[in-house]
Amino acid sequence: MQTRIHPDLAPLPEIQEADSILRSCVHCGFCTAVCPTYQLLGNELDGPRGRIYLIKNLLEEGSMSWQAESHLDRCLTCRACETACPSGVEYGRLLDIGRERLGARRGLLAWGLRQLVPRTSIMSFAMAIGARVRGMLPAVLADKLPRERYRLSPSRPSAAARKVVLLRGCAQQAATPQVADALEDLAGRAGIGVMPLPSEDCCGALEFHLAAQDDARRRMRRLIDSLCAALDAGADTIISSASGCGVTVREYGEIFARDPYYAERAKRVAERTMDAAEFLAGFDIDCEPATLACHVPCTLQHGQKLPGAVEGVLRSAGFTLTEVAEPHLCCGSAGTYVFTQPELSRQLKARKLGHLEAGSPDVIVTANVGCQLHLGSGTETPVRHWLSVVQERLRSIRPR
Ligand code: SF4
Ligand code: SF4
Repeated sequence: MQTRIHPDLAPLPEIQEADSILRSCVHCGFCTAVCPTYQLLGNELDGPRGRIYLIKNLLEEGSMSWQAESHLDRCLTCRACETACPSGVEYGRLLDIGRERLGARRGLLAWGLRQLVPRTSIMSFAMAIGARVRGMLPAVLADKLPRERYRLSPSRPSAAARKVVLLRGCAQQAATPQVADALEDLAGRAGIGVMPLPSEDCCGALEFHLAAQDDARRRMRRLIDSLCAALDAGADTIISSASGCGVTVREYGEIFARDPYYAERAKRVAERTMDAAEFLAGFDIDCEPATLACHVPCTLQHGQKLPGAVEGVLRSAGFTLTEVAEPHLCCGSAGTYVFTQPELSRQLKARKLGHLEAGSPDVIVTANVGCQLHLGSGTETPVRHWLSVVQERLRSIRPR
């Protein structure tokens, strides 16, 4: 793609990065067919190729109309288009740069989400209150409340040779703290120690995608500092049990590539981070069997490029997995999308649940708290984090 970047923007390093991404697009349109919003709306501007043109215009003209912005707002940032693209166009990074140019999302909703979600203690309190008055809340809020919320007492080996640190995720810790406890319990039973983080700040994903990127970077620096301290103290790996946090932390190296102090530290943290599915693939796990339908979050399959990782662990642990159509399609949760685009989100949820329930599973499993709560609000079939199911049905776990 030919570009003529606005002369005021051309010297900026992030704009040069965006220009290079734009030039790698060959207009083939392979990405359009896999785009959920294009499938629902049928408008080229609500598909990846159209949005790439809109960002190109933004960088050439220096501004964007509100109509054009609305097409970008409808993007789920699911990155299915990246997976489909034969030219390796980094659409997600391009969108982040475009959104940063447009400035932080305005309005009470975006402000409220940015204040609430990253603060685990306030959100835990809000969820506890919300659960008591669920019936009085609007559906869009009631649907985000967990149906199960409890804490486990994870096994802790007395003297572990290997230590890891867990990324528990602020939203997950508020809504379903049992998920990270389940991972800690599995690690403990396998003889691996979990090093506590003195404080786990939000990974910054929410603010980053609402284009409040300066605030997001402040949070990210705090988390990088505490994770580097854990690595210095002997943890060899950072394991994420919420794929939305994992994908962001794994991109810290790129986000801070031009930061003189944090570039190396961010790269170190990113390189040591892995998803729970990659970690548990190193163990022989045996579980009581059950039939599961697996929804792999976009942040895991398209963001972290780990399609099949969760399914591989579940199958080798003895579970039967049903066939699920359109596995690449987003469920419509997508961070704050469920609040900002409720109608599109609802349509995607219904479509996804139709596919997940087609095989009559005992349980629907997923790997991110947002997908879990979103899908769980639309079905009588239990929707659980896969780590909870493995932990509850575990017969044995040992290193390979
Ligand atoms: S990120 Fe998802 S919704 Fe956005 S353009 Fe790509 S495929 Fe479409
Ligand atoms: S598939 Fe890749 S190269 Fe083709 S139009 Fe989409 S982003 Fe551009």
